[in-house]
Amino acid sequence: MAIKKILLYPNPLLLRESTKIEKFDESLVNLARDLIDTMYDADGVGLAAPQIGINKRIFVMDCSREDEGKDCRIVINPQIEYQSEEIGSYKEGCLSIPGITEEISRPKVIKVLYQDINGVLERNTYDDLWSTCFQHELDHLNGKLFIDHLRPMKKILVKNKMKKSSKKEKKE
Ligand SMILES: [Zn+2]
Repeated sequence: MAIKKILLYPNPLLLRESTKIEKFDESLVNLARDLIDTMYDADGVGLAAPQIGINKRIFVMDCSREDEGKDCRIVINPQIEYQSEEIGSYKEGCLSIPGITEEISRPKVIKVLYQDINGVLERNTYDDLWSTCFQHELDHLNGKLFIDHLRPMKKILVKNKMKKSSKKEKKE
C-alpha cells in the first residue's frame, strides 16, 4: 500500500501508449493497490497507471456518489465493444492537469470488455459519468488526454494556461 506521486502534463510518460498486461501476479495486485490508494488520496474518480509513471494497461475508477459508499473497479486491458450514437457531455478534469476543467462530449453508453485482477474476462455496460470516466481513463492508456478532445484553438488556450501555472510554481 502506497500513495504515489501523480505525474503532471506534459510529462512524456503521459503521452505514451501503454502495453498489454500479460502476467496476473502479486506485483500487479500491488500496482492496483497503489492506484486505488493514490486515487482516493487525491479525491479522484479515476486513475490510470501511466499517471504514476507505469505504462501498463490498467486503471481504477470509482464514480459512486458520496452517499453510496465506495465502489472501486479495477480495469485491465480494456476494450470498447460498442458505443452509443447518443452523446453525453461532462465537465472533465484530470489529476494530471490540475486546475483545468472543460466540457467534453463522448458517447453516452458503452459496452466494454476487460480483465479483472485475476485475468478473468468481464463484460459490462456503463453510462453517464461511469462511461465518461471509463473513456477518459482508457484514453490515458493510449497516451491521450482529455484536452486532446478540445477544438485546436481551445487546446492552445488551455496549454498556454498550463505553461503559465507551471512557470509560476517553479518561481515560488
Ligand atoms: Zn485523467
